[in-house]
Amino acid sequence: MVTKAVAEVMAASRMMNVRYAIRDLAVAAEEVAREGHEILYLNIGDPCKFDFHTPPHMIEAVLKAMVDGHNGYAESLGIKPAIEAIRHQAERDGFRDIQSIFIGYGSGEVIDSCLTALLNPGDNVLTPSPEYPLYGAILAKLDCPVNAYDLDEDKGWEPDVDEIASKINSRTRAILLITPNNPTGAVYSRHTLERILELARRHNLVVFADEIYDKLIFDPDARHVSVATLATDIPVVTFNGLSKAYLVPGWRIGWAIATGPHELLHPYMGAVHRLLRARLCAPHPFQYAVKPALEGPQDHLEQMLRKLRRRAEITMQWAKRTPHVKLVAPKGAFYAHPTLHIPEDDLTFVTELLKQKHVLVVHGSGFGEKPGTRHIRIVFLPPEHVLSEAYEAMTDFIQQRY
Ligand code: PLP
Repeated sequence: MVTKAVAEVMAASRMMNVRYAIRDLAVAAEEVAREGHEILYLNIGDPCKFDFHTPPHMIEAVLKAMVDGHNGYAESLGIKPAIEAIRHQAERDGFRDIQSIFIGYGSGEVIDSCLTALLNPGDNVLTPSPEYPLYGAILAKLDCPVNAYDLDEDKGWEPDVDEIASKINSRTRAILLITPNNPTGAVYSRHTLERILELARRHNLVVFADEIYDKLIFDPDARHVSVATLATDIPVVTFNGLSKAYLVPGWRIGWAIATGPHELLHPYMGAVHRLLRARLCAPHPFQYAVKPALEGPQDHLEQMLRKLRRRAEITMQWAKRTPHVKLVAPKGAFYAHPTLHIPEDDLTFVTELLKQKHVLVVHGSGFGEKPGTRHIRIVFLPPEHVLSEAYEAMTDFIQQRY
């Protein structure tokens, strides 16, 4: 008899740092659900799981594309009508010197391609803390350390520009800005963005502007300023997509717009395009929704903003009446990021809240926060009655436990 040695298949060591806390927690929730409990999900930024519905004209456009036979591979950078619609909107919004537009499998894929084409192992990107964990996962995959800069809770979660300046070193290649922000709901001021652009100018940094929530600002006094509209002499790559404001996260359609001087961007964009050709294309028929989305009726947005405004208010009211909780009012996106003044770490809080009250939120440490900070990220997309039930349970939990 021949016996075979069984060797464990080891994962690459750089995978140790690849985490996505938002989805990792869902596994724990499944266990609680299997025990027969109904879970109140305040953890995933997918409006389609709640009372937000894809505009029907977008669905019709995709069905038509399929019936018309657009089911093969598409152009690697994206289909022409979609690219043109993105370009027209960007120009209307004040983008100048557009060098390249390309569509990917969600903005997540174009973010990955843009980081991969830029960075050598050991290079670093100035990344906000708290961060959106996709960036940390991609940087870990590329063997690039995260160079975290703090968002300042005492200044409405705006970046601390002096701190950013102090973090720049010889391997810093880029700075990432997420506005409106996930997970804090902050919308950065023009003044802050201008100061950061000045740093990028001085240190030859590429600016990555993740603006996927740009249309989801519900605070009447807040205004979205697109980073790319503030400078034409700096390479800026802006990320956006259909997932959030157009209510189709499962269609996986996102894009990037690269602006700035042609001579600075040319070799870099050539590398991005080669990567995009190697992976063939983004989902083809769904790209036919981009033009009708950007140029068709926008009434769903108005309804969405009305709901988000109300749900943000309910969230603030909860924070105000609950001991040990402090919350900076969110202005955009659909996230709130309160601090908990509690003697336990945030993962214990989240895990116990799930087990005892069946409410699921995400721990702040899952967003790359520095050790010792105690935050949770709340997604306030659920309807008012679900939010009220969840907040009541959370208040009870906090009062009983602390
Ligand atoms: N960027 C930010 C800040 C996000 O919050 C998300 C999703 O939650 C994404 C990018 C990825 O979006 P998608 O890949 O669906 O376009």
